[in-house]
Amino acid sequence: MKIARVVDFKTGRRDADFYHQLAGYAACLLKADPDLSEVTVSVVWLRGQEIETYVITRAVIDQWIARLRVQLARTAYVTGRHCEHCARSHDCPAVIAKAREGVALLRDPPADLTALSSVEIVGLYRAAKLVSKAAESAVASIRLHVIQNGPQDSGEGTSLQVVEESGGRDIDVAKAWDIVQKRLPDADQMAAVLKIKATDLDDAVAKAAGRGNGASAKRELAAELEAAGAVTMKRIQKLVEKRIPKEIP
Ligand code: SF4
Repeated sequence: MKIARVVDFKTGRRDADFYHQLAGYAACLLKADPDLSEVTVSVVWLRGQEIETYVITRAVIDQWIARLRVQLARTAYVTGRHCEHCARSHDCPAVIAKAREGVALLRDPPADLTALSSVEIVGLYRAAKLVSKAAESAVASIRLHVIQNGPQDSGEGTSLQVVEESGGRDIDVAKAWDIVQKRLPDADQMAAVLKIKATDLDDAVAKAAGRGNGASAKRELAAELEAAGAVTMKRIQKLVEKRIPKEIP
């Protein structure tokens, strides 16, 4: 029996269901090679140290292609997690319709979440996210309108306007270095006011190491910082929808 194996390494933070992407790879391989019986496809989540594997046979892929054909023939927009990064989401009719449904749902939110099923809780969460995104998009459009057309009178003694305020001070570290060091000669005092952004440091070290040496320089840097006890990992709690590994239908 001839089988093929595909491994897709995911390095990013985005946690999504990549089954259809993997099925697409398997479809290409199975259609290109009639002797192939099945394809084992795995997503390797490098950050989460997880592996998700599917064994995709010819029978499975034929059904998958048939479903894909039906979906491609559809003309209506279908909303989902794929909309989160869509550039059209601010004026997509399907998203606007969903956001309206969400507003209606959130107008009278349930006081006791324990009375809801998990499916209803997730539905409420999705509606809240969609409404919040639609609200952000509306505020951005209003801001642009005010910039282009001037202050908008509320009729209640206030006007909506775009104002310029002083933000925080930006200090050029290279220019300020000698001055700060003179005032804070102690290394600990100096370190207390300087902050290193890990990704900027990685990029700068990789750039300084020259072409082809960046990755190893970053690895060495990480090991040296770790050994010096200079790294602490922050733990944060986030509300996210995470995929549950599923069986192939
Ligand atoms: S926002 Fe609309 S166009 Fe964009 S992916 Fe979602 S349904 Fe499709």
